[in-house]
Amino acid sequence: MRKSGFLLAALLPVAAMAQPAPAPKLIVAISVDQLSSDLFDEYRGQFRGGLARLAQGTLFRNGYQAHAASETCPGHSTILTGAHPSRNGIIANTWFDLNAARSDKAIYCAEDERVAGSSSSSYTVSPVHLKVPTLGELMKARNPASRTVAVAGKDRAAVMMTGQRPDQRWYWNGKTFATDLKTAPVPVSVSAANQAVAALVAAPGEPLASPPFCTARARSVAVGETSVGNGKLGRAAGDARAFRATPAFDGMALALGARLIDELRLGRGAVTDLIAIGLSATDYVGHSFGTKGEEMCLQLHSLDRDLGDFLRLLDSRGLDYAVMLTSDHGGDDLPERLRLSGVAEAARSLPELEPAALGKRLGAELKLAGPVLVGASANGDVYFDATLKPADLRRARSAALAAYRAHPQVEAVFTSDQLARTALPTTPPDRGTLAERARASFDPARSGDLVVLLKRHITPIAVPGKGYVATHGSPWDYDRRVPIIFWRPGAVANMRAEAVETVDIMPTLAAMLSLPIDQAKVDGKCLTNVSGIICPPR
Ligand code: ZN
Repeated sequence: MRKSGFLLAALLPVAAMAQPAPAPKLIVAISVDQLSSDLFDEYRGQFRGGLARLAQGTLFRNGYQAHAASETCPGHSTILTGAHPSRNGIIANTWFDLNAARSDKAIYCAEDERVAGSSSSSYTVSPVHLKVPTLGELMKARNPASRTVAVAGKDRAAVMMTGQRPDQRWYWNGKTFATDLKTAPVPVSVSAANQAVAALVAAPGEPLASPPFCTARARSVAVGETSVGNGKLGRAAGDARAFRATPAFDGMALALGARLIDELRLGRGAVTDLIAIGLSATDYVGHSFGTKGEEMCLQLHSLDRDLGDFLRLLDSRGLDYAVMLTSDHGGDDLPERLRLSGVAEAARSLPELEPAALGKRLGAELKLAGPVLVGASANGDVYFDATLKPADLRRARSAALAAYRAHPQVEAVFTSDQLARTALPTTPPDRGTLAERARASFDPARSGDLVVLLKRHITPIAVPGKGYVATHGSPWDYDRRVPIIFWRPGAVANMRAEAVETVDIMPTLAAMLSLPIDQAKVDGKCLTNVSGIICPPR
């Protein structure tokens, strides 16, 4: 008996896989910003709501953002394009164009810097930098009746998941849900959501009630002049910045998404529609409090509940929908708490590694004027001052390479020439060298002259400030490994351990819709082990 039961269990998923399901009428593509596989694994046993339900679909525990620059914009750019940043152009949240016409040489990934008045900090939102089409664009190209809508806590999440000319695109701009499109009339859902969120932010945010598994994680850890670890995510009235690091921020995005599905009658037409939803609060909680405290526990507990409510609402409408959920990147805990838990090498990057500081030192040593080095962080892309004369540039280059290579916090430094010669990785994403990971983030026109990768658990926030204590952005697995879930009502639980990539999501969803894609134009491949989806022959 036991043996036949086992056999039946082993055969069932295969039988389920062999049956392609008809295309759903609505694809709900959800990105939970900074939801690492480490977090998902840690909390999976506690989920009772939407995340528990979705985990009953096909769950790839080892999904990878396969590129090195594990930031929000690149991460979101891979999810619905099937393309690495090296192909889609979104190499970082911010890169530098030292020849840009404007005085601000930093270029924000989701801006159009050609618009007068746009700057990297106060920018004109645009998809102009995304070089490849998104799934929504391909669906529209096949049938213009297919509609694409985005709702997100961050403009870069909404823009990178929907690309050019979606039907609606709404993102939080710090005060309200806004759009870069000329959307007229503004849907009633959006006006209503903006009124509701204004009232919510204006009132104080009460501390959340902690379930026992969260109080078990409460422990105060000193960091800089403050402490984290036992917070309840309460906030002062009117504090819109703190609001982003509370579950209510995701709750508002989900509520707006649900209202737009109703108002626009998504999933009720003859062809499939797509809604992309970017849930950003987990990322703000991670940056503000780290990943291992009571705060993150409360965030994930609330997100699980709110996602459950959202899915129940879709059920109640009788919609034929499919959900894909993943993340743009993972995250690391703050070094102060990592050290307490035995990760002895965890540390903050030294201020001397900031491009401005190192450039100043090299300039003094080599008697060069100007900044010598330009870059946003100790980790990632670094550019040489474009005004250096060729002979000075050569001296600066060898001195900078020597300085980075000698630094105890630096794992590797690659030159743009080196990365241009490196082939894209063909090995599974859990392997792959650091050079290959950096190659998947490399665009010759946008990337730095040097790409600096810090050692494991070196947090590139030298001094905790502006409320940020922890981050991501490294080529290490805690920042790259994310869950990838495909779920439809009636799904058979199918937990997968093989390493797959977020660039595989788009070809897989395309197969679900029998939408042909040109394999030469994407980096990902249709995942063969998703229940209900049959990949086209290659
Ligand atoms: Zn992010």
